[in-house]
Amino acid sequence: MILTITTTHKNASDLGYLLHKHPDKLQSVDLSIGKAHIFYPESSPERTTVALLLDIDPIDMVRGSKHLSGKGFSLAQYVNDRPYASSSFLSVALSKAFSTAMNGTCAKKPELVDVEMPFEVKISVVSAPRGGEFLIRKLFEPLGYELDIERHILDTKFQEWGESKYFTVELKNSIKLKELLSHLYVLIPALANDKHYFVSQDEINKLLAKGKGWLENHPEKEQITSRYLVNLKSLSRIALDRLNEENDIQPTELSSVHKEKRKTLHDVRLNMVLTKLKESGAKTVVDLGCGEGKLIRKLLKEKQFERITGMDISYSELTKCKKRLHWDEMAPRQKERIELFQGALTYRDKRLEGYDAAAIVEVIEHLDENRLQSFERVVFECASPKLVIVTTPNGEYNIKYEQLMDGGMRHTDHRFEWTRNEFENWSNQVGEKHNYQVQFFPIGEVDENVGAPSQMAIFTYGN
Ligand code: SAH
Repeated sequence: MILTITTTHKNASDLGYLLHKHPDKLQSVDLSIGKAHIFYPESSPERTTVALLLDIDPIDMVRGSKHLSGKGFSLAQYVNDRPYASSSFLSVALSKAFSTAMNGTCAKKPELVDVEMPFEVKISVVSAPRGGEFLIRKLFEPLGYELDIERHILDTKFQEWGESKYFTVELKNSIKLKELLSHLYVLIPALANDKHYFVSQDEINKLLAKGKGWLENHPEKEQITSRYLVNLKSLSRIALDRLNEENDIQPTELSSVHKEKRKTLHDVRLNMVLTKLKESGAKTVVDLGCGEGKLIRKLLKEKQFERITGMDISYSELTKCKKRLHWDEMAPRQKERIELFQGALTYRDKRLEGYDAAAIVEVIEHLDENRLQSFERVVFECASPKLVIVTTPNGEYNIKYEQLMDGGMRHTDHRFEWTRNEFENWSNQVGEKHNYQVQFFPIGEVDENVGAPSQMAIFTYGN
């Protein structure tokens, strides 16, 4: 994998100063997945080119398997395009090899940092699955790049195999070097959409730091963010929220339909649960798997609910919940209405008895399927409130999410994502066994083929 950056700036050899890399030397940096070599194929006052050659060792990567996502068949760990195609590894190499330039520092000639220079970049091979040339253009053109894109066929000997997802891309722009590097840092992995190592919270910080000053105004910022933070919807959601905060845009001003859907699905869900609870006349509610307490905060605003209890297995979620409720400053009369405790939905618990209603919002899919029977008994047999509301994702809808087309799930901790049929069968069977009537409701916009993104069952005790 090789990337070259050329400038014809009037004193082109300034590129060496800006990059902190001497044009006469070959330099190498160690990466956890191999090595990156930096050298200058040409260097003159009129035209200077720096090359970044990535030498990735796929075998070594498998040995240090923390870099792998762990998915896929085992041979794929050895036979893959990692050594040849640009991906998140190129970003890692860029940030290691050119960190000072990317941060906008140049000790010897600081005045160069903010000079716009004509640059030509050539990325020897970039993979752009699901989007191809169209996507490459959508990501780079809004930032002022002129593009020359060549698509490669799968195999020159077998023309009939057709085209591949690989492209050679040439980019031209007059721009500051630090901007160019941060664009490449973010957009190349966004194109590849194939992060090879675990994406952590820290990735959000990196994305926001490198995207500062341009990503918040990019028309494709949602796509860039979610492709960069592949599959982890919740992470890209946090990143987008922070981007928008930084840009001071109110959610209502965002034009994109996708953003609207993204923002409101959980709100739609919680509002539906709230409405159903209100309609039922329940006065006491237990929120099982309450998480950070979004539903509890809504319930608290309604006088109808005299006693509100939240239970979760996670201590840190409960701590967050208390914090979000401003527990310490809460008026004593409000505090009296709430109780929070740690507990597991798969063990009998006397504390769950005696409520009018239970809400179990986006929780069952976190339970191992072989624990569902215990869950059923805990909720429907032991706690047995008059009303039980259960919501869960509708797995059929996943094909509408670009990152999930290949059969992934919406959250790394989900054990299953049921189809409407599976959810209905399970609920009906539970209802019959424990003497509850069941009704079903779609949550979110209904697609005629795959239904709504999320689904709800309402169990009412007795006939
Ligand atoms: N109901 C909340 C949170 C949903 S996330 C909301 O809609 O915003 C799922 C929650 O279920 C997490 O907070 C997780 O800690 C909790 N959970 C997972 N397994 C559990 C179990 N066995 N018992 C209780 N809570 C559980």
